[in-house]
Amino acid sequence: MTNLLPKMAEIWQQTLNWQPTDQQQAQFQKLYELILEGNRQLNLTRITDPEEFWEKHLWDSLRGIAPLLSANFSPAPLHKRSPASPALIDIGTGAGFPGIPVTITVPNCTITLLDSTRKKITFLDNILTELAFNNAKTLVGRAEEIGQHPQHRLAYDIALIRAVGAASVCAEYTLPLLKQGGLAIIYRGNWTEDETTTLQNAVKQLGGVIESIEQFTTPLSNSIRHCLYLRKVANTPANFPRAVGIPTQKSL
Ligand code: SAH
Repeated sequence: MTNLLPKMAEIWQQTLNWQPTDQQQAQFQKLYELILEGNRQLNLTRITDPEEFWEKHLWDSLRGIAPLLSANFSPAPLHKRSPASPALIDIGTGAGFPGIPVTITVPNCTITLLDSTRKKITFLDNILTELAFNNAKTLVGRAEEIGQHPQHRLAYDIALIRAVGAASVCAEYTLPLLKQGGLAIIYRGNWTEDETTTLQNAVKQLGGVIESIEQFTTPLSNSIRHCLYLRKVANTPANFPRAVGIPTQKSL
């Protein structure tokens, strides 16, 4: 049995003004196969149908970094502010989302895939080897600790985070890791105005601003999604991120 991913060239073009090269499509396919294989031993993802995988893992991952794919895309002139080879981190990457699709499509970046679960990181190490990436590395750890580590704090241009926790928790995990002027991209499902007010308060304490919030629907199932773009505009006070577990127990 072969599980072949759809190519969806027209949808990529219409929605992100971008299309995968043949090599990138082959890497998507390989990634998909490795995840199906890994799923037999590890609980990596519920999403295994080819079209659903394409939409919820590949398309969704790349929609958030659309500004990196296309110079004409809003929001924010990300490409102007970022150095030639931006440093990215994906926090709570799990089976590698959004980090691995980003690694495949933005070859001029270096990316760190962080997760607190060693088993998932071991799985990702294998993926990095199989796909022969030289611009990605893995890291086992908690975001609360990595954010206080001198090697990682203030070290990244872009921090990605999907399905890890409440938005203010994601803000506390991402902003300390960013350089001044860096961008945090928080992937969400639903989002309300009330949540914006709460998040604004958290982000302010962390030295950031909410630069934009984008709402969109996924191209096959028309599911609602949001991406929150936070810009680091000031210093993050040294006490953030707080100790392991505190950001979720006492969210800002
Ligand atoms: N981002 C992936 C996985 C989401 S599941 C996706 O969207 O598909 C959440 C993941 O975050 C899990 O793999 C969990 O181990 C990791 N995680 C949760 N809290 C964390 C923390 N404080 N630091 C690092 N990783 C964390």
